[in-house]
Amino acid sequence: DVTHGRILYLEDVSVSFDGFKAIKGLNLDIAPGELRCIIGPNGAGKTTMMDIITGKTRPDSGTVFFGSTIDLLRHNEPEIAALGIGRKFQKPTVFEDLTVFENLELALKTDKRVRPSMFFQLDSAQRDRLAEVLHTIHLAPHVRRQAGLLSHGQKQWLEIGMLLMQEPKLMLLDEPVAGMTDEETARTAELFLTLKGKHSLMVVEHDMHFIRAIAGDTGTVTVLAEGSVLAQGPLDKVQADERVIEVYLGR
Ligand code: ADP
Repeated sequence: DVTHGRILYLEDVSVSFDGFKAIKGLNLDIAPGELRCIIGPNGAGKTTMMDIITGKTRPDSGTVFFGSTIDLLRHNEPEIAALGIGRKFQKPTVFEDLTVFENLELALKTDKRVRPSMFFQLDSAQRDRLAEVLHTIHLAPHVRRQAGLLSHGQKQWLEIGMLLMQEPKLMLLDEPVAGMTDEETARTAELFLTLKGKHSLMVVEHDMHFIRAIAGDTGTVTVLAEGSVLAQGPLDKVQADERVIEVYLGR
Protein backbone atom coordinates (compact mmCIF):
# COMPACT_ATOMS: atom_id res chain seq x y z
CA ASP A 1 0.00 0.00 0.00
CA VAL A 2 1.71 3.14 -1.27
CA THR A 3 -0.14 5.44 1.11
CA HIS A 4 1.05 3.52 4.19
CA GLY A 5 2.69 5.75 6.80
CA ARG A 6 1.79 8.95 4.97
CA ILE A 7 -0.62 11.58 6.15
CA LEU A 8 -0.93 13.03 2.67
CA TYR A 9 -0.36 11.32 -0.62
CA LEU A 10 -0.69 12.83 -4.10
CA GLU A 11 0.01 10.80 -7.21
CA ASP A 12 0.04 12.01 -10.80
CA VAL A 13 -2.33 14.90 -10.11
CA SER A 14 -3.17 17.26 -12.96
CA VAL A 15 -5.53 20.17 -13.45
CA SER A 16 -6.07 22.60 -16.32
CA PHE A 17 -7.73 25.98 -16.41
CA ASP A 18 -9.02 26.83 -19.89
CA GLY A 19 -6.50 24.46 -21.47
CA PHE A 20 -3.57 25.73 -19.35
CA LYS A 21 -2.02 22.98 -17.24
CA ALA A 22 -1.51 24.60 -13.83
CA ILE A 23 -0.67 21.24 -12.19
CA LYS A 24 0.78 18.41 -14.23
CA GLY A 25 1.70 14.97 -12.97
CA LEU A 26 2.26 16.17 -9.42
CA ASN A 27 3.52 13.58 -6.92
CA LEU A 28 3.93 14.43 -3.26
CA ASP A 29 3.77 12.70 0.09
CA ILE A 30 4.02 13.96 3.64
CA ALA A 31 4.85 11.80 6.67
CA PRO A 32 2.95 12.25 9.95
CA GLY A 33 4.64 14.90 12.12
CA GLU A 34 6.60 16.26 9.19
CA LEU A 35 7.12 19.97 8.55
CA ARG A 36 7.35 20.22 4.77
CA CYS A 37 8.46 23.43 3.11
CA ILE A 38 7.21 24.20 -0.38
CA ILE A 39 9.00 26.76 -2.50
CA GLY A 40 8.85 27.74 -6.15
CA PRO A 41 8.51 30.78 -8.38
CA ASN A 42 5.21 32.61 -8.86
CA GLY A 43 2.82 30.63 -10.99
CA ALA A 44 4.46 27.30 -10.04
CA GLY A 45 1.12 25.93 -8.83
CA LYS A 46 1.62 26.15 -5.06
CA THR A 47 -1.78 27.74 -4.38
CA THR A 48 -3.53 25.42 -6.82
CA MET A 49 -1.96 22.41 -5.08
CA MET A 50 -3.33 23.59 -1.72
CA ASP A 51 -6.71 24.26 -3.36
CA ILE A 52 -6.74 20.64 -4.57
CA ILE A 53 -5.83 19.23 -1.14
CA THR A 54 -8.53 21.28 0.60
CA GLY A 55 -11.20 20.47 -1.98
CA LYS A 56 -11.51 23.98 -3.36
CA THR A 57 -10.31 22.82 -6.79
CA ARG A 58 -11.05 19.42 -8.28
CA PRO A 59 -8.20 17.89 -10.28
CA ASP A 60 -8.85 16.48 -13.75
CA SER A 61 -6.94 13.31 -12.86
CA GLY A 62 -4.77 11.73 -10.20
CA THR A 63 -4.99 10.41 -6.65
CA VAL A 64 -5.22 12.43 -3.43
CA PHE A 65 -5.29 10.48 -0.16
CA PHE A 66 -5.40 11.66 3.45
CA GLY A 67 -3.88 8.92 5.57
CA SER A 68 -4.10 5.49 4.00
CA THR A 69 -7.88 5.26 3.86
CA ILE A 70 -9.44 8.61 3.00
CA ASP A 71 -9.80 9.42 -0.69
CA LEU A 72 -10.01 13.22 -0.60
CA LEU A 73 -11.46 13.36 -4.10
CA ARG A 74 -14.64 11.86 -2.66
CA HIS A 75 -15.05 14.80 -0.28
CA ASN A 76 -15.99 18.45 -0.64
CA GLU A 77 -14.32 21.45 0.99
CA PRO A 78 -16.29 21.55 4.29
CA GLU A 79 -15.96 17.77 4.68
CA ILE A 80 -12.18 17.99 4.19
CA ALA A 81 -11.97 20.72 6.84
CA ALA A 82 -13.99 18.50 9.18
CA LEU A 83 -11.62 15.59 8.50
CA GLY A 84 -8.84 17.69 10.08
CA ILE A 85 -7.11 19.55 7.27
CA GLY A 86 -6.75 23.17 8.39
CA ARG A 87 -5.65 25.96 6.09
CA LYS A 88 -4.33 29.41 6.78
CA PHE A 89 -4.36 31.89 3.96
CA GLN A 90 -1.76 34.61 3.54
CA LYS A 91 -3.82 37.47 4.97
CA PRO A 92 -4.86 37.16 8.62
CA THR A 93 -8.63 36.97 9.04
CA VAL A 94 -9.08 37.38 12.78
CA PHE A 95 -12.16 39.08 14.21
CA GLU A 96 -10.79 42.54 14.95
CA ASP A 97 -13.53 43.59 17.39
CA LEU A 98 -13.12 40.51 19.56
CA THR A 99 -10.37 39.84 22.08
CA VAL A 100 -7.62 37.27 21.61
CA PHE A 101 -9.50 34.97 24.00
CA GLU A 102 -12.80 35.40 22.17
CA ASN A 103 -11.18 34.69 18.81
CA LEU A 104 -9.76 31.40 20.10
CA GLU A 105 -13.09 30.52 21.71
CA LEU A 106 -14.88 31.28 18.45
CA ALA A 107 -12.54 28.91 16.62
CA LEU A 108 -13.97 26.13 18.80
CA LYS A 109 -17.55 27.24 18.23
CA THR A 110 -17.02 27.12 14.48
CA ASP A 111 -15.20 23.79 14.64
CA LYS A 112 -16.72 21.73 11.82
CA ARG A 113 -16.41 18.59 13.95
CA VAL A 114 -18.82 19.75 16.64
CA ARG A 115 -22.46 20.70 16.42
CA PRO A 116 -22.97 24.45 16.72
CA SER A 117 -24.75 25.56 19.86
CA MET A 118 -26.05 28.89 21.10
CA PHE A 119 -25.19 27.93 24.65
CA PHE A 120 -21.61 26.91 24.01
CA GLN A 121 -19.41 26.68 27.10
CA LEU A 122 -15.80 25.57 27.10
CA ASP A 123 -15.27 22.32 28.95
CA SER A 124 -12.14 21.89 31.08
CA ALA A 125 -10.17 20.10 28.33
CA GLN A 126 -10.97 22.95 25.95
CA ARG A 127 -9.94 25.54 28.53
CA ASP A 128 -6.62 23.73 28.98
CA ARG A 129 -6.12 23.62 25.24
CA LEU A 130 -6.87 27.32 24.95
CA ALA A 131 -4.26 28.11 27.60
CA GLU A 132 -1.69 25.91 25.88
CA VAL A 133 -2.41 27.46 22.48
CA LEU A 134 -2.11 30.98 23.94
CA HIS A 135 1.32 30.07 25.24
CA THR A 136 2.42 28.47 21.96
CA ILE A 137 1.44 31.53 19.91
CA HIS A 138 3.18 33.93 22.33
CA LEU A 139 -0.08 35.78 23.11
CA ALA A 140 -0.72 34.83 26.74
CA PRO A 141 0.10 38.40 27.91
CA HIS A 142 -2.44 39.79 25.40
CA VAL A 143 -5.36 37.47 26.08
CA ARG A 144 -7.83 40.30 26.88
CA ARG A 145 -6.57 42.58 24.13
CA GLN A 146 -8.77 43.41 21.17
CA ALA A 147 -7.41 41.57 18.12
CA GLY A 148 -7.62 44.71 16.00
CA LEU A 149 -4.97 46.30 18.24
CA LEU A 150 -2.42 43.52 17.68
CA SER A 151 0.56 43.89 15.33
CA HIS A 152 0.41 42.19 11.94
CA GLY A 153 2.65 39.39 13.22
CA GLN A 154 0.53 38.85 16.33
CA LYS A 155 -2.61 38.63 14.17
CA GLN A 156 -0.91 35.92 12.11
CA TRP A 157 -0.06 34.00 15.30
CA LEU A 158 -3.61 34.40 16.52
CA GLU A 159 -4.91 32.90 13.32
CA ILE A 160 -2.49 29.98 13.67
CA GLY A 161 -3.85 29.63 17.21
CA MET A 162 -7.42 29.53 15.87
CA LEU A 163 -6.37 26.68 13.58
CA LEU A 164 -4.68 24.88 16.48
CA MET A 165 -7.86 25.10 18.58
CA GLN A 166 -9.48 22.78 16.06
CA GLU A 167 -6.62 20.25 16.47
CA PRO A 168 -5.94 19.80 12.77
CA LYS A 169 -4.16 16.63 11.70
CA LEU A 170 -2.58 18.52 8.82
CA MET A 171 -2.05 22.28 8.59
CA LEU A 172 -1.46 24.09 5.32
CA LEU A 173 0.04 27.54 5.70
CA ASP A 174 0.41 30.03 2.89
CA GLU A 175 3.28 32.52 3.33
CA PRO A 176 2.97 32.74 7.12
CA VAL A 177 5.75 35.33 7.53
CA ALA A 178 4.82 37.66 4.65
CA GLY A 179 4.85 41.24 5.94
CA MET A 180 6.43 40.33 9.30
CA THR A 181 9.35 42.14 10.89
CA ASP A 182 12.61 40.17 11.24
CA GLU A 183 11.91 39.68 14.93
CA GLU A 184 8.37 38.42 14.28
CA THR A 185 9.74 36.08 11.59
CA ALA A 186 12.27 34.65 14.05
CA ARG A 187 9.54 34.09 16.66
CA THR A 188 7.33 32.46 14.04
CA ALA A 189 10.16 30.06 13.22
CA GLU A 190 10.33 29.17 16.94
CA LEU A 191 6.57 28.63 16.95
CA PHE A 192 6.76 26.28 13.95
CA LEU A 193 9.57 24.31 15.55
CA THR A 194 7.37 23.73 18.61
CA LEU A 195 4.61 22.41 16.32
CA LYS A 196 6.96 20.12 14.40
CA GLY A 197 6.52 16.48 15.36
CA LYS A 198 3.18 17.16 17.09
CA HIS A 199 1.40 18.30 13.93
CA SER A 200 1.92 17.67 10.25
CA LEU A 201 2.53 20.92 8.42
CA MET A 202 2.92 22.08 4.86
CA VAL A 203 4.34 25.57 4.60
CA VAL A 204 4.52 27.61 1.40
CA GLU A 205 7.00 30.45 1.84
CA HIS A 206 9.34 32.68 -0.17
CA ASP A 207 11.47 33.86 2.77
CA MET A 208 14.62 31.72 2.57
CA HIS A 209 15.89 32.72 6.03
CA PHE A 210 12.64 31.44 7.46
CA ILE A 211 12.82 28.23 5.39
CA ARG A 212 16.38 27.72 6.63
CA ALA A 213 15.26 28.20 10.23
CA ILE A 214 12.35 25.75 10.09
CA ALA A 215 13.79 23.13 7.73
CA GLY A 216 17.21 23.00 9.39
CA ASP A 217 19.85 20.92 7.62
CA THR A 218 17.74 17.84 7.14
CA GLY A 219 14.10 18.88 6.62
CA THR A 220 12.68 18.15 3.18
CA VAL A 221 12.10 21.13 0.90
CA THR A 222 9.98 20.62 -2.21
CA VAL A 223 10.52 22.91 -5.19
CA LEU A 224 7.51 23.27 -7.46
CA ALA A 225 7.84 24.64 -10.96
CA GLU A 226 5.37 24.58 -13.83
CA GLY A 227 2.93 22.44 -11.90
CA SER A 228 5.17 19.60 -10.80
CA VAL A 229 8.03 18.78 -8.44
CA LEU A 230 11.30 20.07 -9.90
CA ALA A 231 13.54 19.10 -7.00
CA GLN A 232 13.18 17.80 -3.45
CA GLY A 233 15.53 17.28 -0.54
CA PRO A 234 17.46 19.20 2.12
CA LEU A 235 17.60 22.97 1.46
CA ASP A 236 21.33 23.04 0.65
CA LYS A 237 20.88 20.35 -1.94
CA VAL A 238 17.89 21.93 -3.71
CA GLN A 239 19.47 25.40 -3.62
CA ALA A 240 22.56 24.04 -5.37
CA ASP A 241 20.48 22.29 -8.04
CA GLU A 242 21.11 23.85 -11.47
CA ARG A 243 17.47 23.46 -12.53
CA VAL A 244 16.28 25.22 -9.38
CA ILE A 245 18.70 28.10 -9.93
CA GLU A 246 17.49 28.34 -13.51
CA VAL A 247 13.76 28.61 -12.68
CA TYR A 248 14.45 31.31 -10.11
CA LEU A 249 16.79 33.31 -12.36
CA GLY A 250 14.78 32.72 -15.50
CA ARG A 251 11.64 34.54 -14.45
P1 ADP B 1 1.63 29.91 -7.19
O1 ADP B 1 0.76 29.83 -5.98
O2 ADP B 1 2.78 28.97 -7.17
O3 ADP B 1 2.08 31.32 -7.48
P2 ADP B 1 -0.81 29.30 -8.63
O4 ADP B 1 -1.26 27.97 -8.14
O5 ADP B 1 -1.50 30.50 -8.07
O6 ADP B 1 0.77 29.44 -8.46
O7 ADP B 1 -0.99 29.36 -10.21
C1 ADP B 1 -0.47 28.40 -11.11
C2 ADP B 1 -0.89 28.77 -12.51
O8 ADP B 1 -2.26 28.51 -12.70
C3 ADP B 1 -0.69 30.25 -12.84
O9 ADP B 1 -0.24 30.38 -14.16
C4 ADP B 1 -2.08 30.82 -12.66
O10 ADP B 1 -2.27 31.95 -13.50
C5 ADP B 1 -2.97 29.67 -13.07
N1 ADP B 1 -4.26 29.65 -12.36
C6 ADP B 1 -4.43 29.41 -11.05
N2 ADP B 1 -5.73 29.43 -10.74
C7 ADP B 1 -6.42 29.69 -11.86
C8 ADP B 1 -7.81 29.81 -12.21
N3 ADP B 1 -8.77 29.68 -11.28
N4 ADP B 1 -8.11 30.08 -13.50
C9 ADP B 1 -7.15 30.19 -14.43
N5 ADP B 1 -5.84 30.09 -14.19
C10 ADP B 1 -5.46 29.83 -12.93
